[in-house]
Amino acid sequence: MYQDKVLTDGLRELGIPYTDRQMDQLHVYYEMMVEKNKVMNLTGITEYDEVVVKHWLDSLCFAKVYLPLRKDGFCPKLIDVGTGAGFPGIPVKILFPEIEVLLLDSLQKRITFLQDVVKALELDTISCVHGRAEELSIKPAYRETFDFAVSRAVARLNSLAELCVPFVKEGGSFVSYKADASEEEIEESLYAIKTLGCAKPKVLSYVVPGSDLTRKLVVAQKISTTPGKYPRGGGKPLKAPLLQPVKR
Ligand code: SAM
Repeated sequence: MYQDKVLTDGLRELGIPYTDRQMDQLHVYYEMMVEKNKVMNLTGITEYDEVVVKHWLDSLCFAKVYLPLRKDGFCPKLIDVGTGAGFPGIPVKILFPEIEVLLLDSLQKRITFLQDVVKALELDTISCVHGRAEELSIKPAYRETFDFAVSRAVARLNSLAELCVPFVKEGGSFVSYKADASEEEIEESLYAIKTLGCAKPKVLSYVVPGSDLTRKLVVAQKISTTPGKYPRGGGKPLKAPLLQPVKR
């Protein structure tokens, strides 16, 4: 039996309604993750209460962006870039089932695990795809087709923008979860975010429910099409991130 007070208090604090089925889905997901973690590297966090706070409730702080937009008949498309063990995409899918989710990771073993989770939890309108963001976002089936591109713990913000923004359609948003983004990292990313077609980001600071962990969501709305030359190939988004050219 699970002690779910931290979780249910956290969901209430975030304003997220939940059912017994959704609780059961989270429990099965936890058990599968801990079991698989014995044979492959999924997460360093396995103690239940810590998973609840650091993985689930942190992931679900997406509510701060999504709940003001949630309305009947709105079934947005979301891609989770570099989802790893499924964060934030799986908790978001469980608690907001109307969202159509694509989980993307460059490691096949993690994608195979997530496919097993999706099946066991009987989730629908969710797919898992193996690949690199910078290779997938140039394909017409994925380019500028998502309402949200979200990502947690994958890369520095200016690199991450080039991996994520090409997936977002005009009017949609690039949402980056940041544990430790300094003002400097955010400032440094503004050029990339603008060049890729987004407005100046809003930074939502929050404390993860059930903890004193402070985090940020950096939210940039897409206002124009990403120029066709982005993302650049050859590993450039990570090796040579877009930076404001120095004026001489
Ligand atoms: N988002 C998860 C979380 O918050 O726990 C996982 C974070 S893990 C540190 C980073 C993940 O990003 C890894 O699973 C890695 O395989 C994936 N990744 C890194 N670069 C990527 C890329 N260019 N395209 C897709 N996935 C990538």
